[in-house]
Amino acid sequence: MRPTGKLHLGNYMGALANWVKLQEKYDCYFFIADWHALTSDYADPSKIAQNTLDVMLDYLGAGLDPAKSVLFLQSKVLQHAELNLLLGMITPVGWLERVPTYKDQQKNLANKDLSNFGFLGYPVLMASDILLYQPRFVPVGNDQTAHVELTREVARRFNQFYKLDGEEVLPEPQVLLTPSPTLPGTDGRKMSKSYGNTIQLCDTEPEVRQKLKTMVTDPARVRRTDPGDPDKCPVGDLHKVFSTPETMATVYEGCRSAGIGCIQCKGWAADALVQVLEPIQTRRASFTVPQVVEILEDGSRRARVRAEQTMREVRTAMQMTLTSEAQGGV
Ligand code: SF4
Repeated sequence: MRPTGKLHLGNYMGALANWVKLQEKYDCYFFIADWHALTSDYADPSKIAQNTLDVMLDYLGAGLDPAKSVLFLQSKVLQHAELNLLLGMITPVGWLERVPTYKDQQKNLANKDLSNFGFLGYPVLMASDILLYQPRFVPVGNDQTAHVELTREVARRFNQFYKLDGEEVLPEPQVLLTPSPTLPGTDGRKMSKSYGNTIQLCDTEPEVRQKLKTMVTDPARVRRTDPGDPDKCPVGDLHKVFSTPETMATVYEGCRSAGIGCIQCKGWAADALVQVLEPIQTRRASFTVPQVVEILEDGSRRARVRAEQTMREVRTAMQMTLTSEAQGGV
């Protein structure tokens, strides 16, 4: 994840909650993509260090465990930059321009100049982030599969050009589709930092309740007496993810018959959210900043060892090593 601010419930349900389960079954690498933050926030990097700590605290709060997974910081593993440069040599620009998020983000973040080389090239950096660890799987939600597909294409192209003793160096990783419900933000659009409509993992109970109070609802319920439909309401979508079947049944019945008011319904949604957030916040508060820094340092050391193993193969396959044989015995 990019360290662009504290993580929110959408990040948690879309990725983190699944990662916590995956670390029980796989050797996992999870990192904070501080170089990726620069692709769009290059003009003001002043918040990246603080955001990195916040994201790491959120990772730990959600239950990622440095004893089970490698948790590291991208910029502490320079092999990401080297592989990015080498893969950049073989990636056609047309592939990058076709990545759906490229045009979308330029449109959505109109207040930022995203005509920079780094932003165009971020899928190559992302491919490097993945391929550096020669993984079998990349756990992603539906909306991220295009990136993994591009990574697979880059790996395929690399393997066509270069081999090591006749073997492929960068295996094409498989998508490991993880359940990732799209959570609505308080304005009804997808919950996203860039829209400013999030419920953060470290929001206090009063903050959660206040945000829910202002959340948009089914537009058909203008007055208290108008019936509504939870299937057309962002608050209803939150209930579907977080509330019990009993509460859900009450919401459906009460909303469609105008038997309940939106304020009451939002209160129940807030109850469910607070229950999810409470253990995350307790765990988060148990870590100090020096502990977080040490966890990142240690994880980055472990990541470097694994990354260097791949890079040795990549350099040899690309003949980026100088031997007396390569010099024709001069
Ligand atoms: S009662 Fe609940 S589900 Fe129905 S419109 Fe209001 S907030 Fe949405």
